[in-house]
Order: sequence, then structure tokens, then C-alpha cells
Amino acid sequence: MYPKTLLDYDSDTLKALLAELGMPSFRYKQIYDWIFKKFVFSFDRMTNLSLKERVMLNENFNGVVPQPASVFKDRDDGSLKILYRLHDDNAVEAVAIPAEDGRMTFCLSTQVGCAVRCPFCKTGESGLIRNLTVQEIVTQLIILLRYTGKKPTNIVYMGMGEPFNNREALFGSIDVFTDPSGLGMATRRITISTSGVIPGIEELSAREGEVNLAVSLHTADNDLRNKLVPINKTYPLDKLRRAIQNYTDLTGRRVTLEVSLLKDVNDGYHDAMNIASFCEGMLVHVNLIRFNYYKGSPYRPAAELTEKNFRKALKKEGVSVTVRKSAGSNIMAACGQLSDRSDG
Ligand code: SF4
Repeated sequence: MYPKTLLDYDSDTLKALLAELGMPSFRYKQIYDWIFKKFVFSFDRMTNLSLKERVMLNENFNGVVPQPASVFKDRDDGSLKILYRLHDDNAVEAVAIPAEDGRMTFCLSTQVGCAVRCPFCKTGESGLIRNLTVQEIVTQLIILLRYTGKKPTNIVYMGMGEPFNNREALFGSIDVFTDPSGLGMATRRITISTSGVIPGIEELSAREGEVNLAVSLHTADNDLRNKLVPINKTYPLDKLRRAIQNYTDLTGRRVTLEVSLLKDVNDGYHDAMNIASFCEGMLVHVNLIRFNYYKGSPYRPAAELTEKNFRKALKKEGVSVTVRKSAGSNIMAACGQLSDRSDG
């Protein structure tokens, strides 16, 4: 028996293993259809395979899709978080966020840990452990699909890790999700959220498709951003602004700037004015996100009134701005709360 589930293998290896078991080459496509189109995760239910082949698959693979180490559901908003243990015993988390209007967003991780080490983020505490493979990113989606029973309407790369620091697997997984013979997601339903890795923004700008870009800005003050988003030392605000401008010029797509308001850190009137100047003349939208406190964090969320005033100040300056409701905070599944430990 191969020690892994079917989905643990990349497509070339899997094709070779199926051939080794004596199956014709079209079986790969049939199995792929069962998983990605019909959301069937049991060999026994793949009825266009012969009984003998189904028995053989059961005997040789440890199932279709890995079992998550744990699954948590938020009692208030229905968000679902899975902890997926990898073969080297590392683990990553992924989250499914349902909305009242029927939308279902899957938030996926691209790395174990993160080298950017934003001090307000639980994922960054451990530094980078390793990049995920395409297969490991795709498997997160399949596990969420299995547990929610729903195809996502949106995918956001906003889980653990900096997506643009693992570009090969990031874009490889997007190719899998948008494959019309599989899941067939529209590129405009996919968003990459970056801390501001300019080579990644440039690569995305040059790619075909309509993948959305979100940038975790948090502040438009270079000194403060060096502390809050340390990658700012490599890609400072003026260069970041040019890269965003270039993306919007080339794609015509609006960029979302994420701002998590931290009490007495970046929530003052002058902070709002700095952001308004940064946004001037740009095709951007500001999303104010409530900071999700986790045990041990030195930061606290800004007061609701402060958040309201911040929003008002931006609006007055003509900035397009909304306050995003944070999902999954009861199960430590909200932005910046994900880690490789099961503490949901
Ligand atoms: S906020 Fe994002 S970029 Fe920053 S440490 Fe966390 S995962 Fe990395």
C-alpha cells in the first residue's frame, strides 16, 4: 500500500502510480472529475471505475483525501477551521467563511509559519518553517469542500504565510483551481493578500487573468510600518505605491488596502491622514479590519469609536473605505490568528 492518500500525490506521480496498478490513462481524468466536479471522496462511490479497480484503489491508497487533525466551527458565524497535519508533522490551518447572502469564502495558507514576522500576527511568531507544495494548498481546499459540502464562491490567500514568498506553489494552485476541466473557478473570484512583496505584485500584474490583489498596509508611515510589517524595510512605501499603481494601470482592477487598527499604535487622526495621502489618485479601497486579539499579544484592537472616527476621517478625504466584519474569531480562525498549533 502507498502510505499516502490519493490527493497527497502530484498529478504526474499519480498518473504513474495508476499506470503501475494497470489502469488505463483515462482513469486519472475520471477520478479527477469525481473529486473536483462531483465532490466525491470515496473510491467506492466512483461508479464508472470497475469494482476491481475500486478495490485496488482502496487497497493501495490511504483514502482519497487526508483527514484533518481537527475541525472547529464558530458557533456565531458558522466559520469552519481545519488543522491539516502534513507528512513531516508540521501543520497548517485553512478556514471556510459562509456569508448570509450564500457566498462561501475559503481562506488558504501558503506556508508553515512566515518569514515576515509581523509582531501582531500569531503565524509570524515562529518565523518561516517551510513553503507548502501545490498539492498541500489544493488539499486544504478539498478538505474544506468535504466538510462544508460547498464549492467556494471565493478563494483568498490570506491564511498562514506570505503568498508571494511561495510564488511557484501559489500560482500552481491557482492554475489547479481555475482549470475549466476541474473546479473551474473564475480568476476574478480569487484574491491574493500580500504584506507588500513587490516582485510578487509585479508577477501578478504580468499574468493573464483577473486575480485580485489585497495589500496589508496597516500604516502609511514608513518608520511605523518597518515595525508593524518588517518587510517594509525591503519594500518601502514609495516603491510599494508604485507597484500598486502599476498593477491597477495594467489590470484596471481596484486594489484593497487592509488596515488593522491597533489601539494607540496606528489608530490616530494623523494615521488616517497618512493613509489618505497614500491613496490619493490611486484605484484603491481601504478595508478597516478589527484586530483579532490572541493570548500573549501585546496589541489590542482600537476602540469602536476610534475606528468609527478613523473611517469618517478617511471618507471625508474622499477615500473609499469599509469596515470588515471579522469572521471566525471564536475559533481563532480570524486574520492573524492562525498557527500550526491546534488551539481553536
Ligand atoms: S500578517 Fe501575514 S505577512 Fe505578516 S507575519 Fe502574519 S502571515 Fe506573515
